Amino acid sequence: MSYAPNEAEDAVDARKSEIAAFAHRMRHHVIDMGEAQGQGYVGQALGVSDILATVYRDRLRFRPEQPQWPERDRFLLSIGHYAIALYAALAEAGILDVEELDTYATDGSRLPMSAMATYTPGMEISGGSLGHGMPLAVGMGLGLRRRGSRALVYNFLSDGELNEGATWEAAMSAAHYELDNLVAVADLNALQADGATDSVLRADPLVDKWESFGWRAVRVDGNDLSQLLRGFEELDRDESGRPRILLCDTTVGKGVPLLENREKAHFMRVDEHEWQIAREQLEGSVES
Ligand SMILES: [Mg+2]
Repeated sequence: MSYAPNEAEDAVDARKSEIAAFAHRMRHHVIDMGEAQGQGYVGQALGVSDILATVYRDRLRFRPEQPQWPERDRFLLSIGHYAIALYAALAEAGILDVEELDTYATDGSRLPMSAMATYTPGMEISGGSLGHGMPLAVGMGLGLRRRGSRALVYNFLSDGELNEGATWEAAMSAAHYELDNLVAVADLNALQADGATDSVLRADPLVDKWESFGWRAVRVDGNDLSQLLRGFEELDRDESGRPRILLCDTTVGKGVPLLENREKAHFMRVDEHEWQIAREQLEGSVES
């Protein structure tokens, strides 16, 4: 009996397994960096590894050997404390050497605990004061368009940043200027420094809210690669000239049950003996 494989499906499966492997290696880097320092925003980083792997493996146009290539897509890490996650992605993307991750958060390192554009290749902005990524993305989008560039600006922000007025002012500006070169990606992990997002300041219904601000918005499970790929493709198909946002629900600590089930805290405590358990649980999470 002959079997004619569906090539389109095979191609998608191949992309997905490359992204999954990228995300898996990222999570290991995060655990290694966290253990070396005894701390870090590990829960958030594990939660967004699938998103960053999808973006860096499948979406962004960049040249690893030339981080300042003028035509590169810009990826703005508005959430500066997620730097540990981006370092892991930059290493897997070939912009940083994997060995350099060993210097994370040590004196003299190019990889400080909070993102610094002047220190790290591939880090486009210094995050930290939350809510500033979106205004910067709008300015960059306008500047690139004026230059006639085809580069896209991705702004990676958090659900906590949806409490910030500056985010919404910038969102209105992006729609006003019809910035179709702007793609926002939001990590909705239902957590922020002061507690659960719903208890601090409720932001739902987010798709309706963004659409009413003049954006094209799609919401997906940010830990499901099929949904992430489909979500981005749905945004690609929008030709209305609107800015676009992918809203991604994620699980803090994703891939490490010990941390997924921990009482959720913005800065998660991990005891010394737990790093190795985390590593072993991560191995157990790989689908065969
Ligand atoms: Mg959050």
